[in-house]
Amino acid sequence: MSRLIDALVLVRYYVSARRLQRLGCRAEIDTHQQRQWRRLREQLFAHAPFYAARSQLRFEQLPVIDKHSWMHHFNDINTAGVMLEQALALAEEAERTRDFSASLNGVAVGLSTGTSGARGVFLASRSERLRWAGTLLAKMLPDGIFAPARVGLLLRAGSTLYDTLSGGLRLRFQYFDLAAPFADVLFKLDQFKPTILVGPPSVLALVAEAVLAGTIRVAPTRVIAAAEVLDPVDAERISATFGVPIEQIYQATEGFLGHTCHHGTVHLNEDCLIVEQDWIDRATRRFAPIVTDLYRHTQPVIRYRLNDILVEREQPCPCGSPFMAIERIEGREDDIVWLSSAQGTGLVPLFPDLLSRALLNAAPSASDYRIEQHGLDLLRLAVDPELSGDQQQRVRQAVAACATRAGACVPQIAFDARIEHSATHKCRRVRRLFNVSQGMHA
Ligand SMILES: [Zn+2]
Repeated sequence: MSRLIDALVLVRYYVSARRLQRLGCRAEIDTHQQRQWRRLREQLFAHAPFYAARSQLRFEQLPVIDKHSWMHHFNDINTAGVMLEQALALAEEAERTRDFSASLNGVAVGLSTGTSGARGVFLASRSERLRWAGTLLAKMLPDGIFAPARVGLLLRAGSTLYDTLSGGLRLRFQYFDLAAPFADVLFKLDQFKPTILVGPPSVLALVAEAVLAGTIRVAPTRVIAAAEVLDPVDAERISATFGVPIEQIYQATEGFLGHTCHHGTVHLNEDCLIVEQDWIDRATRRFAPIVTDLYRHTQPVIRYRLNDILVEREQPCPCGSPFMAIERIEGREDDIVWLSSAQGTGLVPLFPDLLSRALLNAAPSASDYRIEQHGLDLLRLAVDPELSGDQQQRVRQAVAACATRAGACVPQIAFDARIEHSATHKCRRVRRLFNVSQGMHA
């Protein structure tokens, strides 16, 4: 019964999201945003102590908040009465066991690392997750949810949500957990034969390599990059392999922020969000987005500054959409660590997010860190503030467990005393510092 209700709620959100996409000009978007903001602020001032204390302020006077202060005020910002310690404990347990079904008073808890290095805890009610899914479907499936499709989702953090989406429709979803050995992921993907493939670009590139090598046979008609910055080199290789232009979903744990139109331009979802531009360099149109999610009540996202660097498009997009057009998304660059396979059959990848999560779970006091691969069997780590011997041991075990889970030999793990900071180089926390030229499809 609850599945049926979920499906109906999802369809309702889907229909409403389709309708909102028809906002035809800037003035219509502004009017819609104002109306939705007035609704949201009533809830906020009534149920979130952090905002109740600021109920006299206008929107533009409310504090701009980053991940650090968002976490600092977690107990006062969320409207579900969830305490940070409870939420962290639950999220860590889910990461450890890869069972993401647990919730607190019906509220799902997620964990993110992100570029700021600090961990974030995210709350979403059932209804908010269904709305998110309905919106995603409305925007990403122009043929509608009744057209047949098999959607393969390559994800680093699991969710039980996708089960809801599959019931009774010719639209099928399958989720592939990237914490599993990559050879298994490829095998299952080969069996599922997705028509739409969604995943981080570094992983899509590996799938493309496997297709080129003849290891698997999949021929999706749509390939959608998510969860990482889409490097042009990856984009070219992936779309050349599959013979389709690569699309993008700009999605963070903070929300579903944007997606590409049929001209390949990322448009921000201004029907669900207010986006303010914090200019980093006006001349080159680089800005950090400050987002307000107009539909999230459980853990409000109000004037939240993301670490991403976006470049606004100079000319309007030829598609005619009035939603803000983005030239590209910079930052959040990841490197994949490659290790020898435990079976002695070449190399297996270890994805940077997984390593970061392992390190931060084992060393919650970390404010900054580096994970550098210097050779096939050597990882060098550095953590600020410096770890004690016991803490280092915990991190070693967590990283080793991560490697074992991926089917890799455990490398030597050494600690460096200090993190080298450089103003001229882009910050990359996980880096591979040597070339891997073979053994990509172990
Ligand atoms: Zn466009």
